[in-house]
Amino acid sequence: MGISRTSCTLASFTYIDVWVFHDEIAPRALFHTLVHATQMEPLGFERYVELYVCGFVKDRSWLAIPLEEQAYKLEARFGRELRGHFFRRG
Ligand SMILES: [Zn+2]
Repeated sequence: MGISRTSCTLASFTYIDVWVFHDEIAPRALFHTLVHATQMEPLGFERYVELYVCGFVKDRSWLAIPLEEQAYKLEARFGRELRGHFFRRG
């Protein structure tokens, strides 16, 4: 199975307890991957994949997958918190 890089570049891929990163592991990419690992834990791998694939098929967009939407929202929040931590005065 190939992944087209024309519309999207995946920073990482989560397969149960194996995390594969496309590039250097940045804090946000690691956090995003941890969100997926956390999503997978209560759902189980098969249900997670079912929801992920159905989410993609519905709108044909990685960003419209509810599991990705949640991961990107939490990743953005993590990024804001990370910036606040490093640039906070006092
Ligand atoms: Zn993701």
